[in-house]
Amino acid sequence: MIFRQLFEPGTSTYTYVIGSQKTGQAVLIDPVVETFQRDLDVLAELNLQLAYTLETHIHADHLTAALKLRALMGSRIAVPALAGVECADVQIEDDQPFKVGSILINPIYTPGHTDHHFCYGFDMGGVGAVLTGDCLLIEGCGRTDFQGGNSEQLYQSVTQKLFTLPGETLVYPAHDYNGRRVSSIAQEISRNSRLGEGNDLKSFEKIMSSLDLPYPKQIDLAVPANMLCGQCPDDVPEGMQRLCDMAIQG
Ligand code: FE
Repeated sequence: MIFRQLFEPGTSTYTYVIGSQKTGQAVLIDPVVETFQRDLDVLAELNLQLAYTLETHIHADHLTAALKLRALMGSRIAVPALAGVECADVQIEDDQPFKVGSILINPIYTPGHTDHHFCYGFDMGGVGAVLTGDCLLIEGCGRTDFQGGNSEQLYQSVTQKLFTLPGETLVYPAHDYNGRRVSSIAQEISRNSRLGEGNDLKSFEKIMSSLDLPYPKQIDLAVPANMLCGQCPDDVPEGMQRLCDMAIQG
């Protein structure tokens, strides 16, 4: 299998490539519209054909490149079914393996950051790995104050589902704002200051309710556009036309 972690600096987003050497097929997880060409260049260099794009959730901080890539490459769009995205070609369900060439990706329903969030487990040549989206970040986690977010659900998703994976499982998040690229389940259990050992649900809820985070810059465009697989709606919010110039227009 082929695995690559790619970074979009504007929104500190990681996009992942998982490819099958056997069949030459690949999936891009959480592709960002600004970096669609970079992603295609990486795939070409790796001799991989883009078969799918796959989302962990409907992003509020960036526009997905899913539709752009489908238009250019004929790739199919996979999105969690619970998100209710009608333009998707594949509806992802909990624990229903998603196949890309010879590779199996296991969707793990992990609500809390949003009500439809999924993590994706896979085997990286004998080592377990999980793409944790915005559910579990390195020494942190995604916010829970919009898109059906819920701190109690996030706490349960992480402690009951992710922290029960083998400790050596590699953790690849959807974002990091401090240049960190990878962690492990064992490291997060011992070091995650919000969700690790010693934090009960009450203390976690207290942390999350006192974060006082700013309103996400792109949310008013990103959420409606991402519900359309990355197509800009007709009424583009002020100052966001730059993004729509890269995306597919409504
Ligand atoms: Fe998010």
